[in-house]
Parts: sequence; structure tokens; C-alpha cells
Amino acid sequence: MGMGVGYFVRALPLQTDEGSDTICIYLIILGAILIGLYLGLYLYNKMLVGKRRKQHPCRFCGHMVDAVSDCCSAPVVERFMTGKCTKCGKECKITCARCKRQLT
Ligand SMILES: [Zn+2]
Ligand SMILES: [Zn+2]
Repeated sequence: MGMGVGYFVRALPLQTDEGSDTICIYLIILGAILIGLYLGLYLYNKMLVGKRRKQHPCRFCGHMVDAVSDCCSAPVVERFMTGKCTKCGKECKITCARCKRQLT
């Protein structure tokens, strides 16, 4: 999936000679569809995963860790790019349960 998009991005600058305009447009449309699909799947996964508690890889500890809020160190309801603290109900940053540093 990711490889397909990566290949497309790398192939783009090569489509410069005349006569390949149609192919070029074709590739752009194809790429747009691919990226759209990729993003859709990514968001769908995020939504799906956000419903249950999941562990995150912490780049500071190097472990899979529980995510907690930065305000109360309580479990968070995860949303896209942010989270909601289950204790105080405010928007919060998602932090590592071990080292309290921000995840993602
Ligand atoms: Zn950590
Ligand atoms: Zn809180």
C-alpha cells in the first residue's frame, strides 16, 4: 500500500518529455486516487483503533506503552491528532505512561 504511493511519487519527476502528457495526467489521477484511498484507510484505522485502548510505541522509552493525558495522567479517549482526558474531560496531549513525554 505505502510502497505503491512511494513508487508513484518517485516516478513523477521523470514524466517530463513531450508526448507523455496524457500518461502524466493519468498518473496524477491514479496517484490522487491512491493517496485518497490510503488516507481513507488510515483515517478509518485511526477511528477504529481509537475506540479501544491501545498501546503506543514511545520513541523515548523504546517500548509499547499506555497512553495517558498530560493533565491528569488518566486514560485518554483518542481522537485524530489529539485526545480527551477521561478524568477532567478536557482536550489533552497524549503522553507516555512511563516517561510522561508526548507521544506522536
Ligand atoms: Zn516513554
Ligand atoms: Zn485531565
